[in-house]
Amino acid sequence: MAPEKHEILRDHLSDHALNVLQRLHDHGYAAYLVGGCVRDLLRGVRPKDFDVVTDARPEQVKALFRHARIIGRRFKIVHVVFGRDLIEVTTFRGGDDEGVRRSDQGRILRDNVFGTIDQDVWRRDFACNALYYNYADDTLVDYVQGWQDVQSGHLRIIGDPATRYREDPVRMLRAARFMAKLGFTLLPETAEAIHICRDLLKDIAPARLFDESIKLFQGGHAWAGFLQLRELNLLGYLFAGLNDLLDRDYDRVSALVEKILTGTDERIQLGLPVNPAFLLAGLLWADLSRRREYWVHQRVDVDAALDLAADEVIAATVRQVAIPRRLTDLMRVIWSLQPALEREGQNMVPGAPLDGLTEAQKTLLAHAWFRAALDFLCLRSEVGEVSDSICAFWRHYAPARDKDSGEAVPTVLPE
Ligand code: ATP
Ligand code: MG
Repeated sequence: MAPEKHEILRDHLSDHALNVLQRLHDHGYAAYLVGGCVRDLLRGVRPKDFDVVTDARPEQVKALFRHARIIGRRFKIVHVVFGRDLIEVTTFRGGDDEGVRRSDQGRILRDNVFGTIDQDVWRRDFACNALYYNYADDTLVDYVQGWQDVQSGHLRIIGDPATRYREDPVRMLRAARFMAKLGFTLLPETAEAIHICRDLLKDIAPARLFDESIKLFQGGHAWAGFLQLRELNLLGYLFAGLNDLLDRDYDRVSALVEKILTGTDERIQLGLPVNPAFLLAGLLWADLSRRREYWVHQRVDVDAALDLAADEVIAATVRQVAIPRRLTDLMRVIWSLQPALEREGQNMVPGAPLDGLTEAQKTLLAHAWFRAALDFLCLRSEVGEVSDSICAFWRHYAPARDKDSGEAVPTVLPE
């Protein structure tokens, strides 16, 4: 199939991407942009990062740049580092079956075979992600009618959908993410195969599912992504406890999730940092509360019940999605401060002077994570879980940052 040619404006490429393309080109190598950045440039959207492909081998690429390192578990790629920015350079991936090792279910376990651009294209996930911009002649190379999909807003997996999901089940999660991010529609065949293949997500390493969840929830379209996961019946493979509760009591359980996720999206829109612990604490709160009620019912003391429930919910979740310890520790803190804030903020005079507060209240105010815990409390009050007056009492000592919107904005949490 002959490549189609289109124009792309060089002015929109980042200096770092241009630098890498130019250097590869000067040394006689092929130099293309590929994937999301080309798709986004064609949509008139500024790409969040630039991916380069070349026929140079990883060692050859590394040799061209002062700050470059070879990384990769499944396949080797080169990171060319420019301060805080980095450009990912990949060597064209090779032909269909030689050297590609598959599991019994068809999952690709290893594919370190290098190839040519017209082999590489079939290894990509969706047609809209398989467009190449050739630096040498400023043209767009489109083997799979990806440009048409970008224009019409369609997400179409390349090749036979079930085969491609079996090769890498995470592509189903990527479908949900791209639908949310791009507002594209899944073509029927691409969608239908998900019904047959979704169970394969059970075999994916929890660490990879964590990475994918973070991309989905911290890409600026968390709420839309969450809705797509529900729609495609995929949420249970990431957060089974939450998914079950949504099945039973959607309106109540989704209310806080919606607050947390739309809040996260707004912060990203504003260019503010978000801490995944805050949003994960929100996603798991309903499950935690359910387990806590159980322990309270068993006559366990309220605070101890929360700790037990936190242990359980974290243990159950990390089996699916490997949330790192530094985040689960922070989630526990946000959760465990909730009952204290509720208790100590009850029946208080709004605007009471600081020196009139009790020691317990002062201790809470001085807590390193007070802001985060309070922001969480206020989101709970917005969905009717906590009385507004408690939230208002504490807010007096730590006003919401975003005064204009009047919304509780999650605190910027240090890493
Ligand atoms: P984003 O805008 O989120 O960066 P992206 O399309 O660039 O989206 P990346 O995860 O950065 O996505 O991957 C870059 C490219 O690599 C994709 O566009 C796609 O061509 C290819 N790719 C990534 N992951 C897979 C996968 N699991 N299966 C097949 N191809 C993939
Ligand atoms: Mg990308």
